[in-house]
Amino acid sequence: MSIPAADGPAATSAPTAGASITDRLVEANARYAAAFHDPGMDARPVLQVAVVACMDARIDLHRALGLELGDCHTIRNAGGVVTDDTIRSLAISQRALGTRSVVLIHHTGCGMQSITEDFRTELEAEVGQRPTWAVESFTDIDQDVRQSMARVRTSPFLAHTDDVRGFVFDVHTGSLREITNK
Ligand SMILES: [Zn+2]
Repeated sequence: MSIPAADGPAATSAPTAGASITDRLVEANARYAAAFHDPGMDARPVLQVAVVACMDARIDLHRALGLELGDCHTIRNAGGVVTDDTIRSLAISQRALGTRSVVLIHHTGCGMQSITEDFRTELEAEVGQRPTWAVESFTDIDQDVRQSMARVRTSPFLAHTDDVRGFVFDVHTGSLREITNK
């Protein structure tokens, strides 16, 4: 997740006037499908890895990690945090679809560093209902990666927790920095 403005505009593919963004995506899909050849893949990821990452638009996970179609599961949310729903996806990934390794990716300039748990209170004030979910904001990115790794490693629902590694992706250099346990 990213709060806009800090890194300037990225308007290289602005929508054409009159068409909604979704219309544009549907048109792009028509071109994609016209050239599509069924690769005949199995749903089980070839590399037996699940990648949990922030939804930030600046992270092209497949290119950044040298991944091809069919190689991995990608689980993305605001912050790339390990929530109950992330564990749900990882449990299915491991137990039903054969993945064994987990890679966690946070990144520099994450919007979750500029938001606080007050977000829930503000939402409640606005809509009259308190969200059931935690915002999962953080200030120390390294520590949040460590917490995410710990949540995966200690989950009783996961079958494979011996290969869990966490990284911070630098959105300006494209490099990964591994976070080790203290
Ligand atoms: Zn982010």
